[in-house]
Amino acid sequence: MALTPVEIRHVKLRRSFFGYGRAATDRLHEEIVESFEEVWRERADLQDKLERMESDIARYRDLETLLRKTLVSAERSAQELKDQARREADVFLTEAHAEARLIKQQALAEREHLRGEASRLGVVAVDVEQFRTLLDEERRRVLDAIEYLHKENPGSIRDETQDETIDNHLAETATATLDREIDYTLEENSENVLAAIDAALQRIQDGTFGKCVNCGKEIGEERLAALPWATLCIDCRRLEERR
Ligand SMILES: [Zn+2]
Repeated sequence: MALTPVEIRHVKLRRSFFGYGRAATDRLHEEIVESFEEVWRERADLQDKLERMESDIARYRDLETLLRKTLVSAERSAQELKDQARREADVFLTEAHAEARLIKQQALAEREHLRGEASRLGVVAVDVEQFRTLLDEERRRVLDAIEYLHKENPGSIRDETQDETIDNHLAETATATLDREIDYTLEENSENVLAAIDAALQRIQDGTFGKCVNCGKEIGEERLAALPWATLCIDCRRLEERR
């Protein structure tokens, strides 16, 4: 078995006549050699182990450095990505806000426009039907009146006058003529009213009914109710009367 250095130090060799006993000395020498050989082997093994561990450590250090670098660069790129994403998000948000404002403005303008249009169409649509009925009734009334006047006075004033004979009584003639002239005036008025009614009905067809032909403003509903074929608003009518 191998001896430790302490054991070697305490080995006592029996003395003989010629000094240390040969056999014991040889045995001790052999054991010391074996011990050294064993220590040497262990030392070599440990040396190998140490070298392996040192190379492992070097490799781990490299690995650590690499990981650290990778980590740092990953962190950096993550930060850069985050920053870029934030910048892009900011730009996107700004654009979206601007877009939203524009859309909202357009929508509000459109709503105002539609509201105006709807109220205009709504009011006019209801009124137009009312006034169309009113104008149709008035038209029938005027046509009846014209027909009646035609029946009363066939022919024209001129014809009647020419047909008058000298024999006729002067007063009679004068009265008859006056009556007929009144009727003709009525008929002429009726024709004018009929033309105005037809023009008003045409304006309903054209979608311009209820608008002053002079200034384009709405003719008041009360005025239209009183005179459905009115072409001028009250202001323009008054201006015309003053002239
Ligand atoms: Zn007007």
